Amino acid sequence: MSAFVLYVDDDAANLVVFEAAFRKSFPILVARSAAEALEIIATHEVAVLLTDQRMPGMSGVELMEKVQSEHPEIIRLLVTAYSDIDAAVDAINRGQVHLYLRKPWEPTKLKMDLIHARDRYLNAKRVSELETRLHTTERMYSLGVVAAGVAHEIRNPLSALSLNLELVEGVLTQDRLSPADQQRARLAIKDSHLAVKAIADITQSIELSTRSTVEGEVDLKEVIEMAARSIRGEARRRARVSLSLDEVPLVRGSRTRLGQVVLNLLVNALEAFDPGPSQKNIVSVRLRKADRAVEFEVADNGGGIEEGALKRIFDPFFTTKTDGGTGLGLAISRQIVEELNGSIDVTSQVGKGTSFVVKLPAALSQY
Ligand code: ADP
Ligand code: MG
Repeated sequence: MSAFVLYVDDDAANLVVFEAAFRKSFPILVARSAAEALEIIATHEVAVLLTDQRMPGMSGVELMEKVQSEHPEIIRLLVTAYSDIDAAVDAINRGQVHLYLRKPWEPTKLKMDLIHARDRYLNAKRVSELETRLHTTERMYSLGVVAAGVAHEIRNPLSALSLNLELVEGVLTQDRLSPADQQRARLAIKDSHLAVKAIADITQSIELSTRSTVEGEVDLKEVIEMAARSIRGEARRRARVSLSLDEVPLVRGSRTRLGQVVLNLLVNALEAFDPGPSQKNIVSVRLRKADRAVEFEVADNGGGIEEGALKRIFDPFFTTKTDGGTGLGLAISRQIVEELNGSIDVTSQVGKGTSFVVKLPAALSQY
């Protein structure tokens, strides 16, 4: 039997009446003191705790307070005489008690209250079990999707590589190489380098994504400045990068991995423009404090994202780039941000531009 209703009262007569009245309605356990109740809670699945306020030793409210912090899932009901109403109201206001019942209790009403309380516990338990299941399923699913994606993505450059090797081998079996043969071999080797680079890009992204997300406390301003410096060459060719960075609280995380997020967003923003420099192309990066969080935005006035694509940009291997996109940048960025209990959101308008906003909780030491 599980999901018990536990009644605590130092008056043994009350316990007897209680058991007799409700034995048929739900599984019951009783205790004559707060200490005994805590022992029972440690060894049984208790759904509802119903306790008298006035007891020698630990009072009902004190017991509730302890149970609230150690077993918050238990629904807590306090029975008090009118004279103790202040203690009950106070306990309710502090969230220690879900409901208080006036003594002496009226059996039909108490039965309904207890049945509701027990249902509430059972529902919450079911929801949390479903959540856990969903989470595991999602994880397994995305692992499978990623593995299949990796295999698929690597297959193309690998077969290009092997075809090119065969071609070079064939050319080399000839005694004398004509200029045309030399040219064919050179092209094949160039293609091979591209294929190797494609494979290296994929493995590097995956390798980086397995590094630990939390190493300590990180100053996002520094991380952004560093990422912006590292793309300066590429940036100059495509757009003007404007930084507006406030001093902000530190966040929990890893510099490398948060740097990876910023870099992914910056590179995507630059790639949103057609090649070739233009003074009209602007990528703006803003960093600011937001409540107990830090928020940064990478916005561009590039081509924007079509509605159909917008739903898929965070999917592993989704890319619209024909030359060298891995489609891993956003998938990995989101994984990093979410592991840090943060969020990443996108808004985009075709022809107008795109904005990514990343929000990360400030480190606990910051408040
Ligand atoms: P990749 O850059 O390798 O394609 P990402 O995961 O970084 O992979 O991005 C996935 C897709 O999302 C891109 O191919 C592109 O279509 C779209 N995208 C991301 N950022 C932007 C942006 N700032 N502007 C327009 N499209 C973008
Ligand atoms: Mg990218």
